[in-house]
Amino acid sequence: NALVIDGRAVAAGVRARVAREVATLPTPPGLATVLIGDDPASAIYVRNKRRQCAEAGMRDLHRHLPGEITQEAAAAVVDELASDPQVTGILLQLPLPPHLDAAALIERIPPEKDVDGLTERSTGRLALGRPGLRPCTPEGVMVLLDEIGAVLEGAHTVVVGRSNLVGKPMAQLLLQRNATVTVCHSRTRDLAAVCRTADVLVVAAGVPRLIGEDAVKPGAIVLDVGIHRTENGLCGDVDTDTVREIAGVVTPVPGGVGPMTIAMLLQNTLTAARENPIT
Ligand code: NAD
Repeated sequence: NALVIDGRAVAAGVRARVAREVATLPTPPGLATVLIGDDPASAIYVRNKRRQCAEAGMRDLHRHLPGEITQEAAAAVVDELASDPQVTGILLQLPLPPHLDAAALIERIPPEKDVDGLTERSTGRLALGRPGLRPCTPEGVMVLLDEIGAVLEGAHTVVVGRSNLVGKPMAQLLLQRNATVTVCHSRTRDLAAVCRTADVLVVAAGVPRLIGEDAVKPGAIVLDVGIHRTENGLCGDVDTDTVREIAGVVTPVPGGVGPMTIAMLLQNTLTAARENPIT
């Protein structure tokens, strides 16, 4: 039976370390979370981010904007935060109301404050292997892999999903660690056969229980990024009940990759503040 990684414990460890390091800074980092509109799921995510940011000793510089805000007015808010020296990190909570151009707003975030790692410059730096802020969820997966001492060099890693938020940056981070990387997506032929070749399988497809035991090599490390609400609570993209009979290591949903995302946001906010201290 597979080892089940306790993502909550690893995330708590990261948050505690960040809090200790924040306490040594002359000025606390300031994280500006921007929530546009009243999407209930986004409101919960932002509330958790703000709470954990405050618990780590950072300044919570939240902005809640009306859902009907114009592109120009939203851009003006991002510009103001971009030039505010008290703000060391900016997080624009996605998705935005459909009348807004999210990509254009993200591009107004200066790369040194881009704690979600989603601007073109941060993405380019990752692709080029240069230092920069990385997207939080794939970064959290890397921390979990290191926590269990996974050997990535030369290993065959398969990433299911190619979104800009998770799949693509995940593949880049694995490549940087000298893994052999295969990226699967909705047009991949015989997904299970490809996944069965993986020593490390990262699943971010957004399809409940897409990956079953037929798609897992015995002893493989399986990381489940998916989150779905069902009648019986949360589930992921992996059918964990059957997969754990075969895999060597699995992450549960909830309590696996999910808690790591906010922990890495705090880590990125600390990194951003260190590299561009408030003067
Ligand atoms: P997305 O919808 O933007 O991308 C999904 C990707 O999966 C696409 O590239 C698509 O080609 C691929 N895909 C879809 N169906 C497939 C199939 N049947 N076979 C193979 N590939 C398929 O989603 P996303 O933003 O990357 O998020 C993926 C999942 O991760 C979602 O469930 C989301 O809720 C979850 N998520 C969790 C966290 C976290 O903090 N744990 C963060 C972000 C996203």
